[in-house]
Formats: sequence, C-alpha cells, structure tokens
Amino acid sequence: MIINKESLLKERIAQIAQQLRERGYRVTPQRMAIVQAVLESSEHPTAEEVYRKVSDSFPMLSLATVYKTLEMLKTLGEIVEIPVKGQVHYESNLRPHVHLICERCHKVMDWGEEIVPPIPKETIESSGFYPRYYLVEVHGLCSQCQSESNSVPEADKPRGNPGA
Ligand SMILES: [Zn+2]
Ligand SMILES: [Zn+2]
Repeated sequence: MIINKESLLKERIAQIAQQLRERGYRVTPQRMAIVQAVLESSEHPTAEEVYRKVSDSFPMLSLATVYKTLEMLKTLGEIVEIPVKGQVHYESNLRPHVHLICERCHKVMDWGEEIVPPIPKETIESSGFYPRYYLVEVHGLCSQCQSESNSVPEADKPRGNPGA
C-alpha cells in the first residue's frame, strides 16, 4: 500500500481546523497557512522561519500571530519545542526518530525512524510513566560544516574579529 504523504497532511490539517473550531478559535486562511507550514516542514523551523515563509503569501502577517498559532498547536499536542542553543525549533513529527544536531550551524535534521530502538513495553509499564513522545539526539557536524572546517584550517582563520 502506498501511503500518500500529501493526503495524510491534508487530513491532519483538516482535523486541526476542526479541533480549533470546537475550541472556539477562528480558523482563518492565514492561521491555517501557518499550521501547514509547520506541519509540512521536515526542517524543524523556528517561529521566525515560519513567519518568513508564510508572509510570502500573507504580507500582513505578524510574528505575534505566528507565535499564537504555534502555542495553539502545542496546546493541541500537535507540535513540540526542540530547544537548540537558545533557539526554539518546532517539531511536528512525534513518532520516535533521531535528530542530528549540528554543533556549528545548529541545524536540526531528521534521521531515519527505523533506527530508533523501541522502548520495551515492560520498561514503560514498570516506570508508571506515560511517554507521549521521545527523540534521540545525535550531536556533531553536518556535512556542510565539515567541508567548511576542512577547507579553512583553524590556524588560517582571520583573528581579532569577535563579531564574526
Ligand atoms: Zn552545520
Ligand atoms: Zn525531527
């Protein structure tokens, strides 16, 4: 069976719109464009990145609206915050998977879901804890930052430029 990612996404967005209506929120095209931008991205965008993307189609959009909508999605349990170096990224994939976090450019990339070991049922039951989601973090250097650090040896880098 082929799972059509796009139709799954549409279905999820429709369900969120429904939940928002039930909770008395106004479901505006702008708000739903924000929802779609976060849900369809696999790049763990920050609020500013969501804002930049959606304001292409909605020039009147404010960053405050983006934050409010992200808060709503958090309340619904649709997204979670991934803090990296003081920046908050948003994750909409709550299936267990691995995050590759670059220590230099602070990008957060997904790695396969298939390589995350499942937590044994007995372990969960004996803990008495209800695990809503979990992620494995792998810290290191992305390929781009590796090639940059190879091409410019530490000793050859310009000095005395603390602003850089
Ligand atoms: Zn990097
Ligand atoms: Zn992820």
